[in-house]
Amino acid sequence: MQRSPRPNRFRDAWISELDAGRAGTEARVSGWVHRRRDHGGLIFIDLRERSGILQLVLDPVKASEAHAAAHGLRSEDVVTVNGQIARRAPENVNPNLSSGEVELVVSDLEVLADADTPPFPIDEDGPVDENLRLRHRSLDLRRGPLQDAIALRHRVTQTIREVLDARDFLEIETPFLTRSTPEGARDFLVPARVVGGREPGLFYALPQSPQLFKQLLMIGGFERYFQIVRCFRDEDSRADRMTEFTQLDIEMAFAEEEDVYEMTEAVLGTVFERAGFAVAPPPWPRMTHAEAIARFGSDRPDTRFGLELTDLGQPLAGSGFKVFADALAGGGVVRAINAGRRELPRSELDALTELAKRHGAKGLVWAFVQEGEDGGGPTWRSPIAKFLTAEEIAAVGVRLQAAPGDLLLIVADQPRVAAAALGALRLELARRFDLVPAGRHDLLWVVQFPMFAYSAEEQRWDAEHHPFTAPATPAGEPAAAGDLADPGALLSRSYDLVLDGAELGGGSIRNHRGDIQEKIFELIGIDPDQAQARFGFLLDALRFGAPPHGGIAFGMDRLVALLAGRDNIRESIAFPKATSGADPLTGAPAPVDAKQLRELGLRRV
Ligand code: ASP
Repeated sequence: MQRSPRPNRFRDAWISELDAGRAGTEARVSGWVHRRRDHGGLIFIDLRERSGILQLVLDPVKASEAHAAAHGLRSEDVVTVNGQIARRAPENVNPNLSSGEVELVVSDLEVLADADTPPFPIDEDGPVDENLRLRHRSLDLRRGPLQDAIALRHRVTQTIREVLDARDFLEIETPFLTRSTPEGARDFLVPARVVGGREPGLFYALPQSPQLFKQLLMIGGFERYFQIVRCFRDEDSRADRMTEFTQLDIEMAFAEEEDVYEMTEAVLGTVFERAGFAVAPPPWPRMTHAEAIARFGSDRPDTRFGLELTDLGQPLAGSGFKVFADALAGGGVVRAINAGRRELPRSELDALTELAKRHGAKGLVWAFVQEGEDGGGPTWRSPIAKFLTAEEIAAVGVRLQAAPGDLLLIVADQPRVAAAALGALRLELARRFDLVPAGRHDLLWVVQFPMFAYSAEEQRWDAEHHPFTAPATPAGEPAAAGDLADPGALLSRSYDLVLDGAELGGGSIRNHRGDIQEKIFELIGIDPDQAQARFGFLLDALRFGAPPHGGIAFGMDRLVALLAGRDNIRESIAFPKATSGADPLTGAPAPVDAKQLRELGLRRV
């Protein structure tokens, strides 16, 4: 606590202020009964409030009324007490409490509210069913770890505001009731009431991000914007993703990639430093998307451990083994990981094969490297050993720097599939063999993503980031309208910040030229009429002098959970939804009555 409370009938000090220096003085404090120990004579109570826990002592002789009242106290009752601060005997000092050197010898005690027996203990951090915790969130929030995480969240947002304000960013709000923004997820829809000549069946969409509004703010001359803003994506929730989440959203005009990187590094660098989260000081390394995929099989590479992917196209060119030959002839690749010296039973190799298949691979080749006999080259113990020549086995071994005992995992498939399967295997091996050094954190920028991915299902190109991202030529230079002829070869001016294999945030330099923006809509199958209907307000704004601009957004929930050392992002949010997407606290989503539906022009089907 930064300052003492205004003295009133409940308190004249925070518990955190009560240390040995206050011994002998009077204090009044209030809070919840955390624990009570009745020693027959003396009663000890741990009193808890936001700033800490204080031991109260009630003596049956010196304060008989207060002692009698304390007899009936139960966990989570709310009390206010007055008394004298006393030093604890050295053997009773509690080093785990900020006020552990003292106790309050109570002279009077008033019960302000009784508590029923809590459905789960507040004073232990044991596992409790998530639904039960969320249902009784006001109790759950009293628990120390949640108090700490929510307070940390406040400090993180304050730091962000401080650093951005010092850099002349303005915090500006954007609407929640708006039109759909294509960020790639399903929209949350809000039916509009039938009123004032408005026809029935019209909907607002809750924003998936303030993307278009922040671009309009740049066109509107604000130069530097940020917002810590709620966004909504109607996707199935998972442990690490929620339908309703908070984003730090930033946009800058007359800016290019380097400006966004430098600003981000200043903001997050300060956040990490103040939270005591050990990452390398900025500038943070950069890796192109192509390199991330080639080396780590992922656009969110976890670089804290090795097991990098190696391409075997060269040592296996001309191989007579049909699986490899067919893959290479069909535009595919043969790539591998040297998993190191491991002895894995068949059942575990089968589990790894299943994992590769779940990521689309047709199969997984495994091989254990064996010492060659009589001075000969190495051999393999592998179902495919007999299909490869001794030269191929030797050449693959050299590429993979294989030694006897090493386990090699090989995938022959289309490049995307091979990357996904080996990327997943790499993470699984790291988990299984505990390969991530304790306490290590790696941050890096992944840059130069492909601009488009072809959707075979829809038979058209899709923007990889979002369609407002500016394209780049294959050489990484800003693209002009004339460079867009070969969409598959284009890169984009987008970037992601990756921490320990998870995306912290991402953004891009935008299209500030209307002709390029229109062309991109066309490439992703939005014809000019549709573009005008859906994004006319952006296209119109782009015609009146839009500055070059770009920005980025970060998921606050995950960032805070990470800084707080919690795996579950719900631990960083005061009132999260359950994994199912429902809210056990309020019972949302809930039915509405017929009158409300009528007003909205809706009918149940
Ligand atoms: N609008 C993007 C998102 O929400 C971020 C950005 O491009 O700034 O992911």
